[in-house]
Amino acid sequence: MASFSMADLTVVSNGGTKAKGPAEGAAFGLAFTDHMLVIEHAAGSGWGAPVIKPFQNLSLHPSAQVLHYGMSCFEGMKAYKGVDGAPRLFRPQMNMKRFHKSCQRLMLPAFDTEELLKCIEALVKLDKDWLPEGEGSALYIRPFAMNTSAFLNLRPPNHATIVVTLSPSAQFFSTESKGEKLFLNETDVRAWPGGAGEHKLASNYGPTLKPHLEAGKEHGCIMVMFCLPQGPSPEDALISECAGMNVFFLLEKEDGKKELCTPPLDGTILPGVTRESVLELCRSWNEFEVSERNITVSELTTAAQAGRLLEVFGAGTAVTILPVVEIKREKGPDCKCRCECFADMQLTNRLRKTLFDIQLGHVEHEWSIKL
Ligand code: PMP
Repeated sequence: MASFSMADLTVVSNGGTKAKGPAEGAAFGLAFTDHMLVIEHAAGSGWGAPVIKPFQNLSLHPSAQVLHYGMSCFEGMKAYKGVDGAPRLFRPQMNMKRFHKSCQRLMLPAFDTEELLKCIEALVKLDKDWLPEGEGSALYIRPFAMNTSAFLNLRPPNHATIVVTLSPSAQFFSTESKGEKLFLNETDVRAWPGGAGEHKLASNYGPTLKPHLEAGKEHGCIMVMFCLPQGPSPEDALISECAGMNVFFLLEKEDGKKELCTPPLDGTILPGVTRESVLELCRSWNEFEVSERNITVSELTTAAQAGRLLEVFGAGTAVTILPVVEIKREKGPDCKCRCECFADMQLTNRLRKTLFDIQLGHVEHEWSIKL
């Protein structure tokens, strides 16, 4: 495979002159750092040299496939300001591999993920003064790739573009909050068997905005949770995930033992880096059963009614670990956790702290890559 290479990277700097506002209190994704990375591919000549240049608008042909057929995919990663002030990435090669898979699903040209990561690291180092301070704050890294071919006919690209931008972001969840509520939407489906839900394609996200806003405005919940109907009864639907995070349930089983479960990677679930990290951590602790298995709405509702739904949390790069105390259902009774408050959620708290400690370098761990 002919890839671009970090060795060919050119840097056109603006000298780091943009004004930096505080990440705290700033709306996510509004502010961007001084520079961006751009790598272009053209049929015939292949990948061009990667360029880091001052943050600027892109210029696209009106027929660019990305504008018509959703031919784009993206990643979400974070650079953390470590205890020693140096930027740190969290398991970035997992994002690179997922990104490459998404690109392949859209027939975008292949590349060497190690080389892309090296270019991203160079960008983060150049704009490291933008790294926000404090637990939960980070520099959000947004790589995206798109088919920029100028033809209306849907066909493999003769032009493709990878862009990476950086945006300072504050903690998603305030620890002063007692815990959040999710809204289980039992009508709209995010992903289905045989679809492309396991890839981070732009087309999986646009349609989630409406259910997400309804979850907030009409039901007072922080995020929408999706499920996959399995028959005439809403109770038989399988729990899926949220629009931007995976979900975990800590259950007390009939025999009193605990089980942490999350839906399996059956093609409808995004294989989250945080999800995988939670599974690996909990399995290494070996204190309770850890399962990747189907969870029906009925099982969840019954467990909540019996007081056996102990803790619920979301897992994702944006939220890290999001404590959830209640799931409001669209077509059935609401499901309350036995732990009514974040402070009582032992596993949720422990995972949040463990991940922050690794991400910020409070403990040295192979998952945290110091730049
Ligand atoms: N599910 C969906 C649909 C997502 O968009 C995300 C965010 N990438 C996740 C789960 C969590 O994945 P990660 O832990 O890799 O951020």
